Amino acid sequence: MTGRRKLGLTGWIMVGLVAGLLCGLLQYLLLPPELNVAIIRWVHDPLGKIFLNGIRMLVVPLVLVSLTLGTAAIGDLRKLGRIGGKVMGLYLGTTAIAISLGYALARIIHPGRGLSIDVDATFSPKESPFLMDILVDIVPRNPFSAMVEGKMLQVIFVAVLAGLAIASLGPRAATLKRGLESLDAVIQRMVWFVMLFAPLGVFGLLAKVVASEGVEVFLPLIKYMGNILGGMALHVVIVYSLILLVFARLNPIRFFQNAWPAIVVAFSTASSNATLPVTLRTAEERMGSEDSVHAFTLPLGATINMDGTAFMQGCATVFIAEVYGIPLSTGDFLTVVLMATLASVGTAGVPGAGLIMLSMVLSEVGLPIEGIGIILGVDRILDMCRTAVNVCGDLTATVVVAKSEGALDENVFYHENLPMKGAGSAQT
Ligand code: ASP
Repeated sequence: MTGRRKLGLTGWIMVGLVAGLLCGLLQYLLLPPELNVAIIRWVHDPLGKIFLNGIRMLVVPLVLVSLTLGTAAIGDLRKLGRIGGKVMGLYLGTTAIAISLGYALARIIHPGRGLSIDVDATFSPKESPFLMDILVDIVPRNPFSAMVEGKMLQVIFVAVLAGLAIASLGPRAATLKRGLESLDAVIQRMVWFVMLFAPLGVFGLLAKVVASEGVEVFLPLIKYMGNILGGMALHVVIVYSLILLVFARLNPIRFFQNAWPAIVVAFSTASSNATLPVTLRTAEERMGSEDSVHAFTLPLGATINMDGTAFMQGCATVFIAEVYGIPLSTGDFLTVVLMATLASVGTAGVPGAGLIMLSMVLSEVGLPIEGIGIILGVDRILDMCRTAVNVCGDLTATVVVAKSEGALDENVFYHENLPMKGAGSAQT
């Protein structure tokens, strides 16, 4: 018990992560395959799924209630438009930078040159969405089915509309607003309860990935993986730090410390959407952002802002072109940047979403979509890393916008004993 208090929840989540990696690896190397599979089925898989389902079930109610309240708090359409404009600028700008960086680095490193790999014949590309449909689809025909299906852009639309209505009705909607505030507190507390299970959940998720995939699958693609992982690290360290320093005058090291719980959960779940409850909590309790900003920017970011994914797409396009020996022109580069930025708007933050977007990009520049089969085997681990980058990007933009709106409490941002570090933050 004392140990738990000292280490804190984030510390325990890290323990779960490292233990999961080690356990998965040892299991894969030492145990007979049947026993390995049995342990995955009976232990790792259930632990991971219980945690994942637990946070997923809270995503829609949390976004709906907190965004409605956040919009009601802003109250006026002009301010909402200003916050929206700033955050969209940051989201699209960082995404375009990430793709360009991914593309440029791959042109220098040549991850696919001289490689001959069998294409995974089992990969059948899914149909990619038509861009205009994505925009039209933001307005739901039925708000309840939008919630049941977890369509995030639609849920955002309903919540913003409801928030504006509450604000414009003033006292007539005061009772509902108080009810929603109370509901918000209940959902937040439910998130906290589920997070107490996070160390075990993270352990199960990690152990399963490592024990079922092993390490051999990575070897032929080690250069491709190194290209993506190294480049994404550069993007996070250089681009985000510069944005934080230049636009918000905030200490990037402190930012990354504060963002840590969200980064770890994003890495383990490989889903920005599923991480949302943790990202929202992190923004509020560790960054000091006000509800009126992060309740709007983070659900939006989880859906449309995917810098890690965009980076992978830039790099994967060059990789696949090199493996097939197809030259790429400057025009192709511009098409990739444009397509990948637009594609990221329409794809939800769920595991593997990046590959669907990649198929859109590849077909646009005339590369064989089957090429995705080459990178499929290593995509899960890359997905985990790029999701962590995606969530980091959402938080970076949120903090910058909050600062510019005077909605960032720097006492919280620079606080020494950050909440969510330990069980102590549940006491509130
Ligand atoms: N899994 C990523 C996310 O949820 C999307 C992707 O790159 O596949 O942000």
